[in-house]
Parts: sequence; C-alpha cells; structure tokens
Amino acid sequence: MRFSYKILFCSILIMAVSFGVGGYVFVDDVFQTSLERETKQAKDESSILQFAFETAALNIPSKYDMLQNSVIEEIGANLERGGQGRLLRLLDEQQKVVYASEGFVEDTALLDSVGATTRAWRVISLQGNYYIQTGTMVTTLDRILYLETMRDVTSVYAERDRGFAVYRNITLLILVFSSVLMYFISSWLTKPIRLLTQAAKKMTAGDYGYRAEQISLDEMGQLTCDFNHMAGVLEENIHKLEDEIRAREDFIAAFSHELKTPLTAVIGYADLLRSRKLDEEKHFLSANYIYTEGKRLEAMSFRLLELIVTKRNAVKRQEEKAESLFAYLEDVYREEKNIRLNFQYEPGVVNVEIDLLKTVLINLVDNACKASKEGDLVEILGEQRKKGYYIAVRDEGVGIPPEECKKITEAFYMVDKSRSRSHNGAGLGLALCAEILKLHGSELMIESTLGKGSCFSFLLTDKEAEADGEEENHTVGGAAGSSGGIFGAGTGTDRPL
Ligand code: ADP
Repeated sequence: MRFSYKILFCSILIMAVSFGVGGYVFVDDVFQTSLERETKQAKDESSILQFAFETAALNIPSKYDMLQNSVIEEIGANLERGGQGRLLRLLDEQQKVVYASEGFVEDTALLDSVGATTRAWRVISLQGNYYIQTGTMVTTLDRILYLETMRDVTSVYAERDRGFAVYRNITLLILVFSSVLMYFISSWLTKPIRLLTQAAKKMTAGDYGYRAEQISLDEMGQLTCDFNHMAGVLEENIHKLEDEIRAREDFIAAFSHELKTPLTAVIGYADLLRSRKLDEEKHFLSANYIYTEGKRLEAMSFRLLELIVTKRNAVKRQEEKAESLFAYLEDVYREEKNIRLNFQYEPGVVNVEIDLLKTVLINLVDNACKASKEGDLVEILGEQRKKGYYIAVRDEGVGIPPEECKKITEAFYMVDKSRSRSHNGAGLGLALCAEILKLHGSELMIESTLGKGSCFSFLLTDKEAEADGEEENHTVGGAAGSSGGIFGAGTGTDRPL
C-alpha cells in the first residue's frame, strides 16, 4: 500500500474514533444532566404529594379513628387530578394496591428499597416510553402506607437519540470532507519520497548523474539534499573505479607490450644462436642483444617491484636536513663529466622518508641527464618557502611536448621509446616518483618547452602545514588524496601510472 494512503487511512481512523468518542461523551453528558434534572423534579413531586397526602389525611373528620382504604382512594384520586398527566399509586402496609392511576406499572419491586426515611427511584421503560418511578413511605393516622409516582421522561431519551443521530451525520460529513483534503495533503507531503524513489530508480538503471528535485526546506528537503550529496559521492567513486579499471587495463596492456618486445628479441637471437653456427662477431652481437634485453627486463621488474612495494608500505617520515640530501646527490654525481651539474640549495628541514626521497631525486636528475646533450647544464635547486621546502630539477635538454606532459607519469609511458629503451628505461621512473610524492602529501609539477628544457619540481610540506597542503592539492587535482591505487598517478590530475 502506498505511504500516502497509509497516512490517509490513519488520519481518517483517528478522526473517526475521536469524533465518535467525543460526540458520544458530549451527547451522553447532556443526556445525563437532563436526566438528573428530571430525577430531581420527580423526587420533589414525590415529596410534595407525600406532604399533600398527609395534610389531606389529617383533615379528615375525627369520627373515623382510623384511615379507611376508601378515604385513601379518595385522596389518591384528588391528588391525581391535581396535576396534568400525573401518575401515582398508593399501597397499604402489606404493599397491596389501594389506589393506582391508569397505566401505572404493575410490579412493586421498587418498594423493597424504600425505608422509613429513604425515598427510592428508578428509570423504567413501559410500552416504548421512559419513566422515573419514585417510592416513599407515608405514615399517617397509625397507618404506614406507600406512595409511588411515575414521571414521563421519554422526551429526554428522544433528545439523546436525536443528538446521536445529528452527531453521526456531522461526523460522516466531516470525514468525507477531511478525507478529500487529507488525500491531497498526504500526496503533497509524500511527494519528496516519490521524487527520491524516482531518482533511486534512475540511478539503479545507470543514470548516475540524475538528482532528486528538492521541493521543501524541512526534514524531507534535508533528506533529499543528503541523498543527492550521497549520490554525488557515489557517482564520483564510480567514476574513480571506472578510471581505475581502465588504468589497470592500460597498465596490463602496456606491461604485456613491454614484455613482448624484449622477449621476442631474446627468443629470436637465442634461436639464431642454437640453430646456426655464426661467425664470432655475429655470435657476440646476438649474445650481447640477449644480455642487454635481459638486463632491461631485469631493470623493469625491479622498478615494478619497487613501485608496488612503495605503494603498499606506509612511509616512515622523519625530519632530515635538506643539505644532507643535496650532499648525497653531489656525491652520487661526482663522476658525471658530460653534463654540468649545478647545486643551489638553502638550509632547511624536510619531513620525509629519506631513502624514498633519494630515489625521487636520482630519477629526476637521471632523466634530466638523459635528456641533455654533452655540456648542457642541469640545475638542482632547494629553497625554503613559507609552506615547505621546494625542490626543483631543471635541464636544458630535449623538452617534452605539452600533450605528453600529462601522460609521462603513467606507468610504461615513454616519450621517445627507442631513446628510453636505449637507457634501459621502461617508463616507470616518473610513475614511481609521483607515487612516492603522493605518499608524502605532495605532487610532481612539470614545466617543459620542447627543445628548450624541462623543470620537474615539488613542495615538501612539514607536518603542521600538511593538512593545508593536502587541501591545496585536492583543489589542484588531488595528488595527496587522489585515487588510482597502484595504477593511479599523483601529478595534479588523476590518471593511470
Ligand atoms: P624511464 O625510466 O624510461 O626514463 P620515466 O618514467 O622516468 O621513464 O620517464 C618517462 C618519459 O618521460 C621518458 O620516456 C622520457 O622520454 C620522458 N622524460 C622524463 N624526464 C624528462 C626530461 N627531463 N626531459 C625530457 N623528457 C623526459
């Protein structure tokens, strides 16, 4: 059953019960009041008749030393005539009827409750009419008599029945009218629920962008607002999951491709070696090809492992002197003669896992060297800024086309494949850097001009500023909190490694 109908039927039920009970109590209260008034009048009339009977009995001539039944009858008849529609009955000591008005009730049960000082009364129904019957004891001239009266109260009962009928009709009328009204009210009240149901159905059918219309500002409006918010979050998560699935597929495709090329060469050259007798030079070249491709596969598997391990393990950050980091780099590249390396850094403290950060810097400096030709300058800069420590690696090398900049942090992505492969690269170095920086709440920023050089930089926030930093990253692209998992990158926009 629809919720609006439930509201409708419940309200009709409540109204019917309350009107019914209220009406009954009201009409019955009016009836009881009228009946009490009639009872009082019946008792008063009984007292008056008692007094009148005693007076009349005392005025009888004294020749009779005892009150005769004939005299009682005479007094009774006189008293009956004294009031219009008056009904009375007089009985002797043995409760035998001495005088009774016509139509007086026959049973004398009421007299059992009559005492010397107590007057009894009851309501009786006689041939469709209602009467208040009273009974009292009359003591006069050594006789104990009983006087009973009957007062017609049929009109009081008729009034009550009419009251009930009128109230029933009014109640029915109100119920019909209020049912129509309640139908519209309950439909209006439940409209937000219908809109929410519609939205839920649309979303279930795959329309994740559909939102329920908010038509009120009350709790239902708040519920709609919350539902829409939840739908928004779910839609975002679904898109993230879809992106991640796509990224996984791309990753697997790229991985298979990266495996296929060296393996084909290795198998081909190995087959050549075992099937034919080659001269010494060809033999060396084939074996060398197998060796270099094998080395490349080995390097790729190490990088991949490194990437997975980095992602899975929690970083253990601790404060380190930035100078020691640059000193380490200077030490590593001390023997580099082809490229001019220029270190410029300010003292500062970085909150990092030092080994991971060294990996990032070595990758960036290696890439810069690979992209540069002999005699080019590569600058490694360190700068203490308000929000953290800024590190940049700048080169004057080949540069990267603008459309490629967004993709180079994807796993296995190489701008110049042959050049990268010749350096044993597999397009995993920047993916690893992006992942490590993401774990540090930072992101890799890339600026590059084709033919002029590139600059890879990042800002390391300290612990206090970390929260702010994360917020900033979210607005830029969500490096710190972005999804992507092992296949997701952290360089401003969400994209596969
Ligand atoms: P690899 O390990 O193969 O070098 P990376 O992930 O480190 O892979 O780099 C991805 C691609 O980005 C490389 O193919 C390279 O062409 C390009 N690249 C990286 N750094 C630079 C740079 N400083 N200048 C020009 N190209 C670069």
